[in-house]
Amino acid sequence: MTGMTFADKTMNLMGILIAAGAVLISFITVLLSRRQRRQDIFLRVQEILSDESMQHGRWLIHQAAESGKFPARGTSEAALIYRTLRMHNTVAMYVRRRLVSQRWVLDAWHHSLGNLNEAMRVYVTNGTDLTKWYVASEFTQLTAMAAAYRTSMPCCQPKPAGRAGTS
Ligand SMILES: [Zn+2]
Repeated sequence: MTGMTFADKTMNLMGILIAAGAVLISFITVLLSRRQRRQDIFLRVQEILSDESMQHGRWLIHQAAESGKFPARGTSEAALIYRTLRMHNTVAMYVRRRLVSQRWVLDAWHHSLGNLNEAMRVYVTNGTDLTKWYVASEFTQLTAMAAAYRTSMPCCQPKPAGRAGTS
């Protein structure tokens, strides 16, 4: 019982290695499942933003901001704008809380959402009789981010010189 034999020491070392391996594996598992969750949420974001009624809602917001006329309370247009803002605000919250990759969302949506930035500014300033501005408080941050976002993808390249106005 005095001191450890060579076999005891080997067993101890193996125990430590096995424990360290288990920690490493569970760490990798956590990372992979987080990655998987973020991919799932990104797909869900794609579905939400591509939804036909959400597209129509964004168009209504553009229209309202351009004409300065916001649909009256109780109309189906007002209801759709409200729902559109709610859903887009949720997406913006997911982005802010890093539940989904900000880069992926912006890569896919920087033009759609960036184009809405000015309309959202008008909406927040003038549209408060329709719904409360806070419905879109997170979304306006996302549209501002999208408006400033540039990529190296063809969509962000300047149109070739001499072709301006032809398309
Ligand atoms: Zn672009």
